[in-house]
Amino acid sequence: MTLRVTCVSAGIASLSAAVALRKHVSSIILLEAAGNIEQMDVRAAGLTLLPCGTKVLQKFGVDPIRDVQAVRVQSILELDWKDGFLRRETGPLPPTCFTAHLGALFDALVKKATGADDDGHGSPPAQLFLGKKVVDVDVASGKVTTEDGSMYESDLVIGGDGVRSTIRRAIVKEAIVQPSGLSVYRWTMRPSDWAHLPQYAKARIDDLVGPENNHANVIDAGEKRIVTYGCHESGLVTGALLFSDYEAPRTTEDWASAGSLAHPLLHHSALLQLEYLWERVYGEGSQVVVGK
Ligand SMILES: Cc1cc2nc3c(=O)[nH]c(=O)nc-3n(C[C@H](O)[C@H](O)[C@H](O)COP(=O)(O)OP(=O)(O)OC[C@H]3O[C@@H](n4cnc5c(N)ncnc54)[C@H](O)[C@@H]3O)c2cc1C
Repeated sequence: MTLRVTCVSAGIASLSAAVALRKHVSSIILLEAAGNIEQMDVRAAGLTLLPCGTKVLQKFGVDPIRDVQAVRVQSILELDWKDGFLRRETGPLPPTCFTAHLGALFDALVKKATGADDDGHGSPPAQLFLGKKVVDVDVASGKVTTEDGSMYESDLVIGGDGVRSTIRRAIVKEAIVQPSGLSVYRWTMRPSDWAHLPQYAKARIDDLVGPENNHANVIDAGEKRIVTYGCHESGLVTGALLFSDYEAPRTTEDWASAGSLAHPLLHHSALLQLEYLWERVYGEGSQVVVGK
């Protein structure tokens, strides 16, 4: 079929659309605002791949373990905020539940979308253009204009440009984004980041998120929550501390903004009350709590 497609962005949504469509269309281009795909802020996070997401990836020919180095997550442990003891375990989870690193997932999808055709359809690879922030789209003609003045014409425009989508605004005139009222500190850390700690601290961290541990941990205190899990076969661990915007020094709608380790530790003394979980570890090196 002769159909030219423009995907606005190279986020997960656009990349997935490009992978799904490439064998059905004559050309696909992806216009991504970020200048460098290796340094996109969004990469430095973990992602839970639930059965529906896994099924889609498998349909794309992307195997979570082989291609994304994902970790099979067996259960979710809910731990008490005050003492770190197990409150509840949900599981075993279906065998198609994984945790993954967003960067690894990105790379696998970019390869599938822009790499050589590997399913014998002879479909042309999608072309990825970086540093192309879309500023306007003419919905009727399919013309897309980028900040640098370039114009791209196609038969179908797919808006994968996130929560503040330019495309959505152009189509449905709706631009309201409702803040959740929550901010989040996110981190990733490698086993080498806690290798210098005393044995008892290492053992506890290994117990929670070490390479042999395939659980997602949720430490909940109602208005605050810490989520941690291993997200890559290399042992990389991801975590997030969610808390109310009211407690944040400043908030933005970006994936990344300046923050400091002092803030979550200062304002979340509850972190330090996690005797079993964090207290001693914190005493040895706060980077273990908030990572890099
Ligand atoms: C802190 C945080 C933690 C999260 N944790 C999880 C999790 O653990 N599990 C999970 O499943 N989900 C999680 N999510 C949600 C998940 O990241 C999003 O649902 C997912 O990234 C949405 O993908 P997307 O492709 O629609 O948009 P995005 O990932 O937002 O990608 C949008 C892309 O569009 C580009 N772009 C924006 N505007 C333009 C423009 N005008 N022109 C060109 N390009 C543009 C951006 O640069 C970006 O690359 C988290 C989100 C956040 C913020």
